[in-house]
Amino acid sequence: MIENFISNYEYYKNVSLKKYNTYRINVMCEYLIYPESVSKLISLLKYLKENNINYIILGGGSNVILARPCFDVVIKLDHLNKITIEKNIVVAEAGVSLIKLANICREKGLNGLAFAGGIPGCVGASTSVNAGAYNDEMANIVKEVKVITPNLEIVTMSNKELNYSYRDSFLKQNKDYICIETTFEMSYLDKEKIAAIMDDRRKRRISSQPLDMPSAGSVFRNPSLAPAGKLIEDSGLKGHMIGGAMVSTKHANFIVNTGDATYSDIINLIDDIKKKVYKNYNVDLILEQEIIR
Ligand SMILES: Cc1cc2nc3c(=O)[nH]c(=O)nc-3n(C[C@H](O)[C@H](O)[C@H](O)COP(=O)(O)OP(=O)(O)OC[C@H]3O[C@@H](n4cnc5c(N)ncnc54)[C@H](O)[C@@H]3O)c2cc1C
Repeated sequence: MIENFISNYEYYKNVSLKKYNTYRINVMCEYLIYPESVSKLISLLKYLKENNINYIILGGGSNVILARPCFDVVIKLDHLNKITIEKNIVVAEAGVSLIKLANICREKGLNGLAFAGGIPGCVGASTSVNAGAYNDEMANIVKEVKVITPNLEIVTMSNKELNYSYRDSFLKQNKDYICIETTFEMSYLDKEKIAAIMDDRRKRRISSQPLDMPSAGSVFRNPSLAPAGKLIEDSGLKGHMIGGAMVSTKHANFIVNTGDATYSDIINLIDDIKKKVYKNYNVDLILEQEIIR
């Protein structure tokens, strides 16, 4: 019985995941568990695997479409939140907020995460999905990553082994690997200069993105023909709605939740957009967000 096993963990039962995903989709999970340490995370994974219990790991929930009425177990790594900084080497555990880390680095005059000041994810997932913006990305500063392998061993992988490419990596392709800690190699820059870069990025986001409505950032990758947003906008889809999900009128590569969108609304809208853009431009848009079923 899982409750016996998790009795010495912080956990919650029958929880709505609405506040744990940035689309604010209102689905449930049976157990929401917060392991307090890496060893407790490994013991939990061992138990779940041995008992064939489905689980997902959630960071900020800012790149996912949670597409199930009820998840069995959701693991959050918020307690893995240690940051150590020695000279220009920054080590952050998976549960650290990327925005918080970007701000700490700015204060210390360490440059490399200025692009991430507006990315509402955690270090673990962002390392895995190679989050990026404004021609910069995690791959440029990740030195190495500590992961838990499918055999539940802790292994250190180098940047090269992570096989990074645009919004992709070995970890993203191999979901059985869990990032527990990322080591960044930063460069030095005057903190006012870093602040100025971050301020510029923030202003650009505010002017171009629908930050006042729930979303999960860009829906599609940019194809080579043109930015996805342009193809969607030129297809006349801005403001197109299914249920509570709408193509943002501010930025066509964002889907926003106007209030009570379900995962089916969002997925059906994605299908509509893909069909229309394919018909108009012969371009098969590739999803940047992840549908978790
Ligand atoms: C307003 C807004 C703006 C955004 N702007 C950007 C942007 O500019 N650039 C960009 O790249 N993204 C952007 N995003 C998307 C998102 O913030 C990033 O992709 C972010 O890196 C996701 O991190 P997360 O912790 O929220 O991941 P989650 O959504 O929680 O998880 C994403 C995936 O990673 C897995 N995962 C979670 N933790 C781990 C772990 N420790 N190890 C391995 N896998 C794990 C999850 O199971 C899931 O499969 C934006 C989102 C929003 C809402």
